[in-house]
Amino acid sequence: MRVHVADHPLIAHKLTYLRDQRTDSPTFRRLAEELVTLLAYEATREVRVEPFDIETPVAPTKGIKLARPKPVIVPILRAGLGMLEGMVRMLPTAEVGFLGMVRDEDSLEVTAYANRLPEDLSGRQCFVLDPMLATGHTLVMAIDYLVGLGAQDITAVCLLGAPEGIAHLEEQLADVEPPVTLVLGSIDERLNEKGYIVPGLGDAGDRLYGVV
Ligand code: URA
Repeated sequence: MRVHVADHPLIAHKLTYLRDQRTDSPTFRRLAEELVTLLAYEATREVRVEPFDIETPVAPTKGIKLARPKPVIVPILRAGLGMLEGMVRMLPTAEVGFLGMVRDEDSLEVTAYANRLPEDLSGRQCFVLDPMLATGHTLVMAIDYLVGLGAQDITAVCLLGAPEGIAHLEEQLADVEPPVTLVLGSIDERLNEKGYIVPGLGDAGDRLYGVV
């Protein structure tokens, strides 16, 4: 697996305000969106493009555009939705699929409860959005699911990750070819006994959308 921690003062600045418990939901949503546009810059470094001819007011020249088949963005519900707008803004031609996954707070076991994805993902570049890479079980399950649909080019984008989750991904996805790319805003210290990232930012879904 290829791991990129996006090291940039603007990313660290936005993450700081996301972490701060005084940040309210509207501000949190805006900052998450802005942060994802910055992470998308790193995550799309190898997005496929194709050449095409244009004319500037001065001369003909060659440009590039996003290639077909269109990339697919897959936010993992519910918290991944908070990253969708920022990613779509950077990849406007992408299609969006959805995967619903929930983690049992006691056992930390992950189950899938919804999916709306193309039946065949072969040849498609896939960008999975999950803000918090904690134990890594959700992301492994999601990526296994996409591989099962034929995806061969997968980039996961997370705001924060714990070393335990990254190690779990590295172990579980070691055989995926080509290797999965993981782009993160920061690698934090550890997980606590409840599976929360420390220092983290709390429950990303609750911070984005309130407690339900
Ligand atoms: N999910 C969250 O929303 N926050 C964490 O810290 C870990 C998992």
